[in-house]
Amino acid sequence: MCGIVGFIEKQREDISDVLVNSLLILQHRGQDAAGVITYDRSFHLKKGQGLVQQIFQKKHIQRLKGFMGIGHVRYPTIGPGTGEDAQPFYTNHPYGIGIVHNGNVMNFFSLKRKLWNERKWQVNSLNDVEVILNVFAMALEDFETGKETDFVSNIFKAVETVYSLVRGAYSVILLIGDRGLLAFKDPHGIRPLSMGIKQGGIGFASESVVFDYSLHKLKRELLPGEAVFVDKDLKVFSRNILKNTYRPCIFEWVYFSRPDSIINGIGVLEARKRLGRALGKKIKQMGIHPDVVIGIPDTGRPAAIEVANELKIPVSEGLIRNRYITRTFIMPRNTKRHSSVRQKLNPVMSEIKDKNVLLVDDSIVRGTTSSEIVKMVRSIGAKKVYYASYSPPVISPCYYGIDMTTNEDFIARDKNLDEVRKIIGADLIIYGELKDLASILPFKEPCMACFNNNYPIKPQKDDIEDIEKDRLQWNLL
Ligand code: 5GP
Ligand code: MG
Repeated sequence: MCGIVGFIEKQREDISDVLVNSLLILQHRGQDAAGVITYDRSFHLKKGQGLVQQIFQKKHIQRLKGFMGIGHVRYPTIGPGTGEDAQPFYTNHPYGIGIVHNGNVMNFFSLKRKLWNERKWQVNSLNDVEVILNVFAMALEDFETGKETDFVSNIFKAVETVYSLVRGAYSVILLIGDRGLLAFKDPHGIRPLSMGIKQGGIGFASESVVFDYSLHKLKRELLPGEAVFVDKDLKVFSRNILKNTYRPCIFEWVYFSRPDSIINGIGVLEARKRLGRALGKKIKQMGIHPDVVIGIPDTGRPAAIEVANELKIPVSEGLIRNRYITRTFIMPRNTKRHSSVRQKLNPVMSEIKDKNVLLVDDSIVRGTTSSEIVKMVRSIGAKKVYYASYSPPVISPCYYGIDMTTNEDFIARDKNLDEVRKIIGADLIIYGELKDLASILPFKEPCMACFNNNYPIKPQKDDIEDIEKDRLQWNLL
């Protein structure tokens, strides 16, 4: 998963500090690498591996001159995530184009081969954004040298070419030299991307929480298959290029986005509270009577409060999180994941000893975090440990940008509830219901493929093989 942001200012003021601070706000979306590219009369780029604050020092922010620019925070869903693969990517013609994206191109490897075989274009990196950039740049160049000379219609036609060739989920922002910012969403609109407006400036961001800081007013989410171009005078052109069923990823509300963001008009915190209430009702019906509810920091906490309200029992901060440790799931090796759960979370004995404890988390994916937590809580004297996930079992790979791309990733995939319970070591496992999850969004068919195996864009056999080969290769590092 990744976070993206882009700003353009009419007053031609430097925006690099706002860009970098916005990346900090989106840091939860990726901690492996980050980068910014700006434009005044030429491009200025800084990117690297690590956290935003490790990469950008004052001198870099001063060097990143420009009134328009884009930025990115990354965790890789393709490739090993080396510094070379950090975004933004850049090509010097036509115009000079910088690009950032959030999502995952399913046919990355076959497109890379196609670009080489048909045009001898070298896609150098293991970053799927590079194929989007190449397809777009190539198409724009073709249209610009053809009879059609209207720039705006040419870029929209180039986006159409991207749609026809690139399969997967992608929300994209491009910085086009001397021209402006272009943002678009894939035809199903799987990953979020919203637009914000203020006097003299326009912005795009993965999550609305960026605009709370940058003082843009959240205007709206981009539509599926829609492209929006903002020129240097802040004139906005938008076009619905290819509209498919809207299938926004529900995992954004379950886990990924910040609770203070609003996506598609639905507050993330509110959605988690609703899921908590539904879970509480289910537990009540099951006739279980824990002594205390503990939310697993951070995502599980708002739901835990709601569960406790439903059950009319106390909620406690019985697990304390070390806020200086970044998300553990992101670490490529399993052993690392195990030990960093211990580093990240610590139980408080007075809240847990001799009690029947109900733990509430957002999801159970591999079962790594959950089994460590159950062990920890038992080791300080819990009587019974009930483990609840407010989302249903995660059973299917995500090909659209969440790093769970192979079947081996899922504890619940081929196992019944009791088998999962045994592995995690809890006295009981409780999952949220699929229908309650679906009800948090007003869309007919949000993407819930990881929960219900119903894919908006069917993965093809070759793509799955390429993707699995890639992920297994790097996970084994
Ligand atoms: P598990 O217990 O299955 O090993 O992991 C579940 C935990 O991982 C939950 O606490 C959830 O918050 C977190 N999680 C779920 N999906 C993701 C993800 O895509 N990235 C990261 N960093 N954490 C995740
Ligand atoms: Mg968690």
